[in-house]
Amino acid sequence: MSSHSNDISQFVDHIAKKNPNESEFLQAVEEVAETIIPFIADKPKYKDSNILETMCEPERVFMFRVPWLNDKGEVNINRGYRVQMNSAIGPYKGGLRFHPSVNLSILKFLAFEQTFKNSLTTLPMGGGKGGSDFDPKGKSDNEVMRFCQSFMTELSKYIGQFTDVPAGDIGVGGREIGYMFGQYKRVQGEFTGVLTGKGLEYGGSLIRPEATGYGCVYFSKEVLNFRNDSLENKTVIVSGSGNVAQFTVEKLLQNGAKVVSMSDSGGTIYDKEGINEEKLAFVKELKNVKRGRIKEYADKFNAEYHEGKTPWDIECDLAYPCATQNELQVEDAKSLQKNGCLGVFEGANMPCTADAIELFREHKMMFSPGKASNAGGVATSGLEMSQNSLRLSWTREEVDEKLKGIMKDIHENCVNHGKVDKEFVDYVKGANIAGFVKVADAMLAQGCV
Ligand code: GLU
Repeated sequence: MSSHSNDISQFVDHIAKKNPNESEFLQAVEEVAETIIPFIADKPKYKDSNILETMCEPERVFMFRVPWLNDKGEVNINRGYRVQMNSAIGPYKGGLRFHPSVNLSILKFLAFEQTFKNSLTTLPMGGGKGGSDFDPKGKSDNEVMRFCQSFMTELSKYIGQFTDVPAGDIGVGGREIGYMFGQYKRVQGEFTGVLTGKGLEYGGSLIRPEATGYGCVYFSKEVLNFRNDSLENKTVIVSGSGNVAQFTVEKLLQNGAKVVSMSDSGGTIYDKEGINEEKLAFVKELKNVKRGRIKEYADKFNAEYHEGKTPWDIECDLAYPCATQNELQVEDAKSLQKNGCLGVFEGANMPCTADAIELFREHKMMFSPGKASNAGGVATSGLEMSQNSLRLSWTREEVDEKLKGIMKDIHENCVNHGKVDKEFVDYVKGANIAGFVKVADAMLAQGCV
């Protein structure tokens, strides 16, 4: 790789100049450039057409005002966004994130990642992402509804079942999708599959809520299997306690692993006895209905609570970061490695920093990037779109089987492009190249200038 390092840093500098103050976006671009630039060095069709730089420029970005009334009748103003990154292989597809940290850099990194991820799923979906700096935490149902309605009143002008199909992400679950779907229908006067992650009563797919977490575990099973290993009796730490974390834990338990931690922005619980189904049901109720803090788990089940801490210093065999970007840094990677951790599987988008990933690579630990291991969510969104188009719904078993098949195919594709030796696969390289080739070929075929 070193013979290309000049080209890589020149490319990254060029993109950085065009996108100042967008550190998360640049981090995502750099990770891709490190594997794609050496790959295209002897391939003039990609190199001479400047395809990677084209892919770094969103096709279109919308930014808009979202005014809404709180329960006291006061006017609040948030900012709404939709980044339409790449439509080479299908309509823009990707979630909406509602979180106070949301800005253009974060949404561009997510939309960029989404383009590669969606390509990997084997389904016809382009890349997009959107959201708002609105914080649903502490808001009443009515406030969330009014915000979602105002947000969709504007967003509805730019999306549609054949152009751009949003879904959930951090801060956007079934409740928010329902309110937004209702508003889209009201404004546009049509009932279409314009959003995924819908309720079952109005066009949602079975397994979609579980899909990101389940898919992440299915992917990690493929990685372990490649090394003739399994999840049985492994001690596992999971970060986060939202949708991805909950269903990652559920599937890990079904596969005989012992899960000892979950977390939220307040801290981490460490349950030495292991989380079981009953305790997980408590977490689901706590987070999805009561919207409380994970600390309550520690109080109820007599577990340790590490206030303000992440789980990475807890001894484990495997780690699943399922919270948010850059939650696992190089110091955390060092303690995981020192404590004998064998592998890290990203459930969130870009939870590990670049130097943390480098450390995993140096120690030949298993590592799968989110764009491969968390692709099950958007893949099942793709299956929801297919069911909506067919006006049919598939059974739980059918969707789950398709999801397993897709995760297996993504793994195989990563091995094809990222295999280093009999034992070691560079999944970052594999996922980037496999994701890139399909999008780049489609762009070239369509005439990208
Ligand atoms: N937000 C999810 C992701 O990061 C799902 C997107 C979707 O289903 O469109 O892939």
